[in-house]
Amino acid sequence: MTYWESKGYEVVIGLEVHAQLSTESKMYCGDPVEYGTMPNSLTSPISLGLPGTLPKINQEAINYAIKMGLACHTSIERINGFARKNYFYPDLPKGYQVTQDKTPICYNGHLDIVTEQGSSKRIGIQRIHLEEDAGKSIHDIDPYNSLVDLNRAGTALIEIVTDPDLRSPEEAQAYLREIRKMVRYLDICDGNMEEGSLRCDANISVRKIGSTEYGQRVEVKNMNSIRHVMKAIEYEATRQIDEIEAGNAIAQETRSFNATDHSTFALRSKEDSMDYRYFPEPDLIPIHVSDEDIEAIKKAMPELPRESIPRLMETYGLSMYDAQLLTEDRDFAHFANGILEQSPDAKIAVNLLIGPVRSWMNEMGQSIAAYPLSAAILLEVIELLANNLISFSSASQKLIPHLQKHPQEAASEASKALGIIQNNDEKYLEALIDGVLAENQDKVKAYKQGKTGLLGMFMGQIMKKSGGKADPKQTSILLREKLS
Ligand code: ADP
Ligand code: MG
Repeated sequence: MTYWESKGYEVVIGLEVHAQLSTESKMYCGDPVEYGTMPNSLTSPISLGLPGTLPKINQEAINYAIKMGLACHTSIERINGFARKNYFYPDLPKGYQVTQDKTPICYNGHLDIVTEQGSSKRIGIQRIHLEEDAGKSIHDIDPYNSLVDLNRAGTALIEIVTDPDLRSPEEAQAYLREIRKMVRYLDICDGNMEEGSLRCDANISVRKIGSTEYGQRVEVKNMNSIRHVMKAIEYEATRQIDEIEAGNAIAQETRSFNATDHSTFALRSKEDSMDYRYFPEPDLIPIHVSDEDIEAIKKAMPELPRESIPRLMETYGLSMYDAQLLTEDRDFAHFANGILEQSPDAKIAVNLLIGPVRSWMNEMGQSIAAYPLSAAILLEVIELLANNLISFSSASQKLIPHLQKHPQEAASEASKALGIIQNNDEKYLEALIDGVLAENQDKVKAYKQGKTGLLGMFMGQIMKKSGGKADPKQTSILLREKLS
């Protein structure tokens, strides 16, 4: 039981996620988007907002936002206005951010997450709007000065805002993982939280269990790891309950997360909250989105897990668990699909994919794109397994590791060289079985009198004599015939 449950409270969370779009150029001008280039080398007068320059909307960013909206079942705004949000900050020297205020491009949608209990929960998506990123202030390179790098200024972002539907750190985690998986599937953002491509603000309040009104919320700004979001929620839930229990009111404020001790501290309160003086951006006309635009984007979307999971379960008789593992990321799902389509046996293919293949990915920390074996070689291995020529354990423990080091070799040749081909020659098997039965005549008698549990013992001895090479299926059939 959590601290808040023990005190009779529940925690209420709404998340705002900023996702940096992987468009080639910035949101309102043609400056390239790149990491790790010389500071302030990707900054034209337009991204700096110098007088006399005119912004222009990046159509690719519009398409990316619509993709995300469609994936989250939102409605799509047809007439998209842009607005200036005015504030000055060293990393925003032009003095305003161009964002969408009254007309977010996507609104009223939802995303389903899987809770810890394994059930599905629907999280409302209030809105997804487009905006531009600010630059970066750097405080830890120069001991005396803060440095400003404006390469990131003007990069396209979407902000995805949920309803206050999340109820625990674990649900927040499941939601953020789902968002990360989705942006990667759609190929609109690399999803790297450590690099700041996904950043999260958490709105957190508590209320007595059973209460229908929300409590006063606090906003914790700008976290770039899922673990930090979870820690911030834990800390805030505890802090807010202690305040309330001590008879104090929760102040409406913006807080920051301290990654060293996992606490949060106040940044600014409601009284000194900024007045952004929003007004329509005079240099941009509204962008119209037509039915045809939306249809074209829909057609170009990849198959999402919520579609592929039921399809895999139905077509190949997979369990939900297996189907989920196969669709964890888009490239792996694509690879797995290709194999399943050609495999003579779906179950064997799945066991190979989620067994040795996924272990390799986990151990190497690599994606399937870097996997040394081609689909064709894996299909050869599946063929050997389906024909009972090798056992699954020798495939996963000997053959696959060997092939990963020598990906040019043919699977059948390598199996012979490794000595793992199973023998299902009837004469060979019969001789083995006869030998074992002759050595155990008393047990054979006992078996015939009803001790059928001895079958395993006979099998064990035969397999041992064969050095693991007797084909177990064939052996078992012959053994039963001899004993009956
Ligand atoms: P703002 O514009 O000030 O950020 P919004 O109404 O857009 O305010 O809400 C921002 C986020 O706060 C949303 O994710 C919403 O779900 C969440 N939120 C609103 N009320 C609460 C509450 N009482 N507790 C927790 N989260 C809340
Ligand atoms: Mg907010």
